[in-house]
Amino acid sequence: MTIRSYEDAHGDNTLEADVVIVGSGPGGAAAARVLAEAGRSVIVVEEGPAQSRFRPNQAHTMRYHMQEGGSMIALGTAAVTVAAGRGVGGGSLINSAMCWRTPDHVLESWTEVLGGDDRFRPDHMAPVYDEIEEIIEVVMTSETIAGENNMIIARGAAALGLEGGLLRRNTPRCQGCGICNFGCPTGGKASVDRNLLPMARAAGAVIQADTKVLDILVEDDRVAGIRGSVRHPDSGEEVGRLTVFAKDVVVSAGAVGTPRLLLQAGLGDRLGPAVGKGLHLHPGNGVFGYREEPVHMWLGATQGAYFEDPDLPDALPHTLSLPPGALLLALGKTGLEAKAQLDLLPHLAGCLVMVSDKGEGTVGVTSEGTAELSYYFADQDLQTMKAGLKRTCDVLLAGGCTRLLVPLAGSEWVDTAEEAYALIENADWTDYKLLYAAHPMATCRMGTDPSTSVIKPSGEAHGLPGLHIMDSSVFPTSLGVNPQLTTMVMATILARGLAAS
Ligand SMILES: Cc1cc2nc3c(=O)[nH]c(=O)nc-3n(C[C@H](O)[C@H](O)[C@H](O)COP(=O)(O)OP(=O)(O)OC[C@H]3O[C@@H](n4cnc5c(N)ncnc54)[C@H](O)[C@@H]3O)c2cc1C
Repeated sequence: MTIRSYEDAHGDNTLEADVVIVGSGPGGAAAARVLAEAGRSVIVVEEGPAQSRFRPNQAHTMRYHMQEGGSMIALGTAAVTVAAGRGVGGGSLINSAMCWRTPDHVLESWTEVLGGDDRFRPDHMAPVYDEIEEIIEVVMTSETIAGENNMIIARGAAALGLEGGLLRRNTPRCQGCGICNFGCPTGGKASVDRNLLPMARAAGAVIQADTKVLDILVEDDRVAGIRGSVRHPDSGEEVGRLTVFAKDVVVSAGAVGTPRLLLQAGLGDRLGPAVGKGLHLHPGNGVFGYREEPVHMWLGATQGAYFEDPDLPDALPHTLSLPPGALLLALGKTGLEAKAQLDLLPHLAGCLVMVSDKGEGTVGVTSEGTAELSYYFADQDLQTMKAGLKRTCDVLLAGGCTRLLVPLAGSEWVDTAEEAYALIENADWTDYKLLYAAHPMATCRMGTDPSTSVIKPSGEAHGLPGLHIMDSSVFPTSLGVNPQLTTMVMATILARGLAAS
């Protein structure tokens, strides 16, 4: 069975299945594999395209493979760009493939809110992490393809005696071309369209792409299926409609897409006040280092190195790589001043400080069906960011850089860590020049209290039998590590529970 596209679903289409899954990212793919292999008939409905429309440039990626064309912005204390993937494979198509296990202390902090459900305890999650890591071929980034941008961080961390170095990614055949975020052009990345989704299809699952789910059907106080609009991937024009009747609906549309859909479907009141609340983002900001010998940050593993400081448990600094055009913008200059920076670009290394945030926001829906996002920074996160940026300055210098630029603190280059520290201390933090956030999470949380969570620890909604959520929206807190692996692991555990019910 091939993946169905808009060409296979013109006009009115009605299908039936045991389970319909909305979204085919890490969460939806993991759920589809478990449920199909357990013998359930499964239909996965995905808004984005069936076949990769990757071109190695940002415009194509944003148009076809980012939710809402890459235009999602959370307004609140400031304006933060929020990125999420789209297409058969979801965010795994365009992510940097870093694979982290959620630290034990984070999983243990969930015990109370999950009412003692022990399936998410570290020792019970560990074998599922092992299983998923094998399927998605997690490997250590090799020095041969890492590139200098990563090696500077690895060397810097080693020189300072910090834990860190090259990191693990699901890129078994990576050639180090540095454009993971535009989609892997060589098949080197084992995104979920190459493993979990084919496994689901081999067990009979059907994937319908180019179809945006707009409504969730409810009959007799129980979920009954979904209704969606089949759209041409280029023009966006509706070419068909799809109704899937199913006993169980699994929403795996991501931490923006899931609450957006639930609210658009008018289920807000029924599902309770926690829908779309508690948005975490892992906000990040970076430091650039200048090295005499060329670095070419856009070559090598996109994000392949990290370090940790035991004094900063909520900061996870890791590689920042940008293509030349985006790098020029990030330097904060325009016009002739920007032109004067061109010779610098090949010499720059980047490191991003990602914060496990205490700040929170919300996901709502506009009358056009797009996401309405807010986000409010917590002072504690800004303090963590400051301290993390300082430590990052030390690491870049120890790794071979001789000058530093902290864009958040201005566009002035400095030669020493002390000068960079002073800039960081004196920066106007009320500007909130936070660079980027690509990890929306925790917007339909799992828990036992319907006033603070949307789903029970079983994965089923408190307020609607047969509705389940299996994606990055279910985490009870921020993870502190990049979420794709934990999203797959939790969806696997939740889907096993559903399959056994
Ligand atoms: C640029 C970038 C880099 C990243 N790098 C990393 C990394 O290195 N490591 C890591 O662990 N994480 C990384 N992430 C985050 C990671 O990719 C996400 O956390 C993960 O993909 C979340 O999985 P999910 O299943 O919850 O949602 P998603 O991956 O967002 O999948 C949701 C899917 O649902 C579809 N959808 C949404 N609404 C509807 C609807 N109404 N109808 C039908 N379909 C719908 C979307 O098109 C999408 O395909 C990165 C993300 C980005 C954007």
